[in-house]
Amino acid sequence: ANVLSARVLSIKESPTLAITAKAARYKSEGRPIIGLAAGEPDFDTPQHIKDAAKAAIDAGYTKYTPVSGIPALKKAIVNKFKNENGFDYAVNEVIVGVGGKQTIFNLCLAVLNPGDEVIIPAPYWVSYADIAMVAEAKPVILECGIEQGFKLLPSQLEAAINSKTKLVMFNSPSNPTGAVYSLEELKALGEVLLKHPHVLIATDDMYEHVNLTGDKFYNILNAAPGLKERCIVLNGVSKAYSMTGWRIGYAAGPAYIIKAMEILQSQSTSNPTSISQYAAEAALSGSQDCIKPMVAAFKERHKYVVDRFNAMPGLSCLMAGGAFYAFPDARQAISNLHQAGKIKETSDMALAEYLLEEHNVAVVPGSAFGAEGYFRISFATSMDNLREALDRIEKALIV
Ligand code: PLP
Repeated sequence: ANVLSARVLSIKESPTLAITAKAARYKSEGRPIIGLAAGEPDFDTPQHIKDAAKAAIDAGYTKYTPVSGIPALKKAIVNKFKNENGFDYAVNEVIVGVGGKQTIFNLCLAVLNPGDEVIIPAPYWVSYADIAMVAEAKPVILECGIEQGFKLLPSQLEAAINSKTKLVMFNSPSNPTGAVYSLEELKALGEVLLKHPHVLIATDDMYEHVNLTGDKFYNILNAAPGLKERCIVLNGVSKAYSMTGWRIGYAAGPAYIIKAMEILQSQSTSNPTSISQYAAEAALSGSQDCIKPMVAAFKERHKYVVDRFNAMPGLSCLMAGGAFYAFPDARQAISNLHQAGKIKETSDMALAEYLLEEHNVAVVPGSAFGAEGYFRISFATSMDNLREALDRIEKALIV
C-alpha cells in the first residue's frame, strides 16, 4: 500500500516554482541562466509599507491576531472594495489569508465536495486545477486559445455547466496570458451565470493594479450585480505592491462562505503573520502612487517583449491588458525546431528544455497552464535581462 495519500498523489508541485528552482540550481553551478519563469515583481516593497512593518514590530504587534485578520486591515479591505470597485461589503464579509493562494485553497475546501465540477478556462493559473483536486473535485478545463483572445466565450460556459457544476473560476487580468475581460464580455458571461443559480463564481483579481492599458478594471460583479450572493472576490497585495514574500491575500463574499473559510483557517495556519497584516494595511490605506512607477516599467517592457516575439520565426504574441507576462503561441516554432532536429518532440516541454539547457533561458511551457504549444515569460525583470534573454531566444528559434 502507498504511504502517501491519494490526495497528494493526485497533484503535482507547482511547475513554475519547479522550473524556477531548477534555473536557480544551474545558476548556482555557475551557468549564465536568465530566469523568466518566476511570477513576481522585481521591485523592492515600497518604503512606507516596510516602515509600517517595522513600527508594528516595535509596538509589539507580534502576537496572535483574530484568525480572519486585524480589524484595521479588514476595514482597509472594505474601503478598497467600496472606493475602487464600487462594492459594499461588511467587515464580516471579508477575510485575510496567507497569500492569495491560501484564500483560494480555503474557498475550495469550504465549498467543494468530491465529484463536484469546477470550470476553469485555460490557459489558467497553474494552481487552480490542483487546488480543486485537493478538494477532491473535478477540474473541467475549457480551452480558450489565442484565436479567441484567451477568453472564455459565453457559449462555451453555457455548454459546460451541468447539475454537478459547483464553481467557475475567473482570472482577469490573467496569469499567464494577460487577457482582460471588458465590461461587455463580463455582461455576456454574467447573463449565462444568472440562469444557473446553483453555480458559485470565484474571481481572482490579483493583477487588478498591474494594468497595462489604463482602461478601467471590471469585475464580473460590476457587469452582473445579481451574482453577488454567490460570488467570491479574491485579491491580495502580492503583485500590486511587490509584496510576494509577505504572504497576504484577501477575499470578500457571502458571510457564511467567509465564515467557513475562517473555520478552516483556524484549524490550519491561524492568523496570517501579524507584522505582514500591518504592512498590508499601510499598502491599502496609504498613497497608491507607489504602484505607478512599477506599472510604467511593466508597460515599457511589455511593448518591447511583444514586438520582439512577433518578429521571431514561428511565434505569435498578443498584447496583454494586464499582469506582467507574455504568452506567445509557439506551435510553428516548435514544429520548425522539430523538423530541423533541434528538439526531439513536438511539445512545449521540449522547447522549454531546449531553451534552458542549450540557450540558458528559463521559460514555463504552456502545458503547465493547460495550453500546449505556448510558453510564458515574465517580464518582471530588468530591460537588460530581457534584451539578452530575447536575443538568446531569437537565436534559438532560427533553424
Ligand atoms: N492568483 C494568481 C492569478 C497568481 O498569479 C498568483 C501568484 O502567482 C496568486 C493568485 C497567488 O498569490 P499569492 O502569492 O498572494 O499567494
